Amino acid sequence: MSEINKELIYAGKAKDVYKTDKDDEVLIKFRDDITALDGGKKETLSKKGALNAVISSKLFEILVEAGVRTQYVDLVAPAQMLTKSLKMIPLEVICRNIAAGSLLRKYPFEEKQELNPPIISFDYKNDEYHDPMLNDSIILALGIATQETLDEIREMTLKINETLSKFLKEHGLLLVDFKLEYGLDNEGNLVLGDEISPDTTRLWDVDTLENFDKDIFRKGEEGVVEAYKTVVDLILTDEEKEKFYVNQIE
Ligand code: 5GP
Repeated sequence: MSEINKELIYAGKAKDVYKTDKDDEVLIKFRDDITALDGGKKETLSKKGALNAVISSKLFEILVEAGVRTQYVDLVAPAQMLTKSLKMIPLEVICRNIAAGSLLRKYPFEEKQELNPPIISFDYKNDEYHDPMLNDSIILALGIATQETLDEIREMTLKINETLSKFLKEHGLLLVDFKLEYGLDNEGNLVLGDEISPDTTRLWDVDTLENFDKDIFRKGEEGVVEAYKTVVDLILTDEEKEKFYVNQIE
């Protein structure tokens, strides 16, 4: 995979952000590192980063077609996504259609209970405080976002949920839940950032409810990369696989 000869601006748990020649664009490198349990469980899985970059690129393209503002510009090489530069808002915006994961540990929902309307909640993206759940009052008091921005985030998240649920269902996958991150561009517009991949979503087979996402890793099971590859096979045409370098992923 090609080396990146650019200045590193930020290194996250699974992605690195590099400067580009343009002030309003950054290059995001999807790494093979995978973490869970608040960073307590860590591994490196070959091809994982490149597969997530492909899946994110395809899903961002679907959203752009639906009129959602995203940071996505282009997948320029395996695992290397060119994006608009954003001032990120430190919120993890979580949207759920089916009860799973931490919702079952914290509240008396039935496993696999349908959630209609979907539940949207906010976690504070802050390692020191272990990503606590927030409400609007805490977000406003901490100065993380304005009420207007929060309202717009909810509206955009519902649209993203509708668009992606429909697309994924047509390709055999249920969008159980997912996490989004937003930022503001130079003009102050709210823009979807980060990634949408099996690291940040729960994706189940529509018929068997088998999962094809990071829960496999969280549970300590084998077959994480194979599951992510299945998602690529389900949602991309052969032409799109060519465009997104899928056959170059070693
Ligand atoms: P839960 O709260 O059930 O653990 O997660 C709900 C959804 O949001 C899941 O799809 C999960 O992958 C995603 N999610 C929540 N928090 C994080 C996080 O800190 N990192 C990542 N990658 N995904 C998260």
